[in-house]
Amino acid sequence: MRLVAFEPVYSEDSGSDLEKGPMTAQTRSRSDAPSERLITMNPVARRTGAWQSAPRFAGFALMLSLAASLACRPADEAPRVLLVGIDGASLRVIEPMILEGRLPHLAAIARNGVHGPLRSGKPIFSPRIWNTIATGKRPEKHGIEDFSKTDANGKTTLMLATDRKVHALWNIASDAGMQVGVVNWWNTYPLEPINGVMVADHLMGADIKGRLVLTDAQAVPPGQLVYPTTWQERVAALFEQERNITDVPNPFETVGELTPGAESSRDNLSRRFVEDGIVVQIAQEIENEVHPELMMVFLSGIDRISHFLWGNLEPPELYPESMRPPDAQREAGVRALQEYYRYTDALIGLLAENYGPDDLVMVVSDHGFEAGVRLQHLTGIHESNKAIDGVIFARGRDIAKGKIAHSMSIRDVTPTLLAWLGMPVAEDMDGKVGHFVKTPQLPKIATYDIEPVPHITSAPSGSEQEMLDRLRMLGYFEEN
Ligand SMILES: [Zn+2]
Repeated sequence: MRLVAFEPVYSEDSGSDLEKGPMTAQTRSRSDAPSERLITMNPVARRTGAWQSAPRFAGFALMLSLAASLACRPADEAPRVLLVGIDGASLRVIEPMILEGRLPHLAAIARNGVHGPLRSGKPIFSPRIWNTIATGKRPEKHGIEDFSKTDANGKTTLMLATDRKVHALWNIASDAGMQVGVVNWWNTYPLEPINGVMVADHLMGADIKGRLVLTDAQAVPPGQLVYPTTWQERVAALFEQERNITDVPNPFETVGELTPGAESSRDNLSRRFVEDGIVVQIAQEIENEVHPELMMVFLSGIDRISHFLWGNLEPPELYPESMRPPDAQREAGVRALQEYYRYTDALIGLLAENYGPDDLVMVVSDHGFEAGVRLQHLTGIHESNKAIDGVIFARGRDIAKGKIAHSMSIRDVTPTLLAWLGMPVAEDMDGKVGHFVKTPQLPKIATYDIEPVPHITSAPSGSEQEMLDRLRMLGYFEEN
């Protein structure tokens, strides 16, 4: 189905009002004072000093020696990275809510670090963007250019991890000997055997069903969803508990009648709330047991909710009369949307709980939203420049404090994280290191893409099939 942009909704500058609010008044300086430059090296950089004398290419032997030097260090000595992806989160909602004190965890990151818009690219398709975020490369280079692909026989299938042609951040970190946790990141099925734990996005049944409907693609053959298999049982058990780990109630169980399009999807929207909670509980278990140096967690809920509720943010008089919802429905929609942001903020707080001031906590979104009309309903879409900016929040050692993150793009996330970790950026990455990172940078290497990334493509064993069956019984994983 085609989504139609609804034009006259809000002014052009509404997505770039970063410097209007009192929250940012003290952070207006766009250049960092030289005195702020830190002379101490990040411990990882110290340990990986071999890179500094490295030639400007990544030899395999060099990778091995780096891996060896990283593998023998005590894990709790190294600063760690938490990267949380919140699909479709917009500063238009976040900034007023921070000013009202309703998003305390994002506010704390902004206060202790940087925040600002994260420029995306068109077409604004999540898989293109999230893979650029995870690789530092444009979609034409990383290979995930769309939701789905059509083969020579006209068969449409979802794009998978095997379509990604380059190393993602988790591969690079894992190859360097770091412990890595990856939960629900876009296109992580089939799984990749990493040094740590990886939970495929295809574990989240509601989301995969949505993608199949959106693309009219055939269901993907079942396979292993959790790596290593020793983690399958505990992951499956989290689905059976279905508990709310925050103090924010599920808005779809409490708010009054929503606009018709959203009301008829209330169960689906409610399921997103539960799935985001499960994703965080999986990440918490990995954190508690593995204590990874790089953790990447993806929460899809805000995007999926916004597709139904964003339109409610617009003043009713801007819409044709036939589409104008009663005030009560519109207000319920705004309340549910804001409560979902509050829930996501609480989840970010839980994910960041164990990360100290020296660790890097970064939260990014891939795009914002704009109002549009879909099936005669007022809704949310992301198609034009009005929706092209996501967000970036980051705090930690060697990160500027209380500043605006400006001119940041989705291509910059991976180079920025590598630089912060004291690892070289590759020449074949399309992004740059964020201006707010004070870690001394190593010379670039040519590429991390020397060897192909291995995947687990074997058919599921008995235990995996049992896990899929259990999830199907619980309604999480439905056959299409
Ligand atoms: Zn979307």
